[in-house]
Formats: sequence, C-alpha cells, structure tokens
Amino acid sequence: MPQLVDIHGHIQFSAFKDDADEVIKRAIDSGVYIIAPSSQLSTSKRAILYAEKYPGKVFAAVGLHPIHLKPAKFDPSEGEAPSFQTHGDQFDEKTWRPLAENKNVIALGEVGLDYIDRLELSEKDRDVQEETFRKEIELALSVNKPIIQHCRSGIVEGKERDAHDDALRIIRDYILNSEPSTLRGVAHCYSGNIGQAKKYLDLGFHLSFTGLITFNNLWDEVIKMAPLERLMVETDCPYMTPIPHRGKRNEPMYVRYMADKIAELKGFSFERVAERTTKNAQELFGLPL
Ligand SMILES: [Zn+2]
Repeated sequence: MPQLVDIHGHIQFSAFKDDADEVIKRAIDSGVYIIAPSSQLSTSKRAILYAEKYPGKVFAAVGLHPIHLKPAKFDPSEGEAPSFQTHGDQFDEKTWRPLAENKNVIALGEVGLDYIDRLELSEKDRDVQEETFRKEIELALSVNKPIIQHCRSGIVEGKERDAHDDALRIIRDYILNSEPSTLRGVAHCYSGNIGQAKKYLDLGFHLSFTGLITFNNLWDEVIKMAPLERLMVETDCPYMTPIPHRGKRNEPMYVRYMADKIAELKGFSFERVAERTTKNAQELFGLPL
C-alpha cells in the first residue's frame, strides 16, 4: 500500500477526544503519516504531545489561527465536529517561540487570514489579522521552518474582500526581503482562483487540497494546471469529509480519496500521486520518513 502524508489532520481537536489513539492507529496501519496543525495555544501543546507519543508518524505544527483573534461562536457542519467558541487571543512571541523551536514541531500553522462573515470584521480587526500573520511568519523565518497557511475570503466592514490577494501581497513581501532563510510554505485547503494559484506557485509555495475536491469541481482546473511536484493532500479532519463519508467526522485515513481525485483529474496513477505528494511533504517539512 503506498504511503501518504495527511498534511493537515487535527487529531488533537476535541472531536477526537475519546478516540484519538484509535484514529491515529488506523492511519498508521493504512500507511498514512499525520501533520497535526493547531489553532491556539492549547491545541498547539496537545499537537506536540501527540508528536512525542507517535514519533516518526505524527508531526506537530503550532500557531494561532486568525479566527481565534476575535470572539465568536462557530458551528461546523453537522456530523463533523462539535461547535466551539473563540475568545479574542493575542499573539505573543515570547509564549510561542519555545513551541516553534520544539524539535517535534515541523511548521508554523495554521497562520493566515480569515474573513468569514461570522466574524463581522472591521478594517481594524483585519489589520490585527495581518499583523499577527506577519509576526507568525517572522517567527517561522527565525526558526527556519515553513508555514501552513490558512486563507478564506469573505466580508470586511460590510464589503467583500479577497483574502488570497492580501496573503499573496504579505508573502511576496517576505520572499523578496527575507534573509538568510526564505519563506516557504503551503496554502492549505486551497480556495483561491487559478490566477492566484499561479502566483503562489511562482513564489515557490505548494497547494494542498481537502475532501472539498471530491464534491466540488471549482478547483479542477487549478489541479490540472499545477505541477504534481507542488501538490499536497490533506483531510483537514474532523472537517471537510470527502465522498463517500459525507455527513460523518473526517479522519486522516481518508486522505487517499483526495490523492485518488487528483490522480483522476491529472490522468496519473494513484501510486504516482501518492509517492510524489509524500515526497513533496517530506521535502517541505523535512519529515524523517
Ligand atoms: Zn485546519
């Protein structure tokens, strides 16, 4: 069975609080390695604990997700995960540096911009997201680790705003001006258009896809256009459950449905997609697989 890396599986989230170990074992038994990205301080610490418990199989990414910068209530799709509350956290470099430096941490993530309507962002709130994103990028550069970027367009001060245009501007800033290490990363759960995808690729970024691509053809052209050397697969579990498991909680083992879909779209074998996306993750994150 070809190996795969689920570059985005939140096995430390509360949706897995009763059976995370079984979920992880199922993934390991089916040849799936897991990168567990975080959303806030508590989930970052828990991701590191799982990476320590499953060395060489589970890897942690730590970061403060932009939705946690403002208080709001979130209700993920029914069947996938329990609802949760964000509290308006602030990013403090002193708190996060030791986590970023931890040897089991392979990236900073999730970091980025999220303009989801529910947050009812003002211009000032958006500025806070950009400032925080920049601080997390600077921390990633200083520990020489890549970023796992989260980006969702939506509404700012009552007007539609494209988060990818903002993210590309910020990333380009650092790529043109950062020395000696270069900003590297992946746009996770890629949601932008084909023009923006080309810009990410030009900046050396990778694009990663979730179960969304199994039931929405909006990104088919992006996947066909992007070189396989720049693609990655992820579940974003417990969310984004792929066909044929819609309506249930997602888990890392299901990452093969995304590799399958990419293989179908590009006209490649499943094995070729599995092997190459695994190599891509290995190289970007320096995974000792
Ligand atoms: Zn996520």
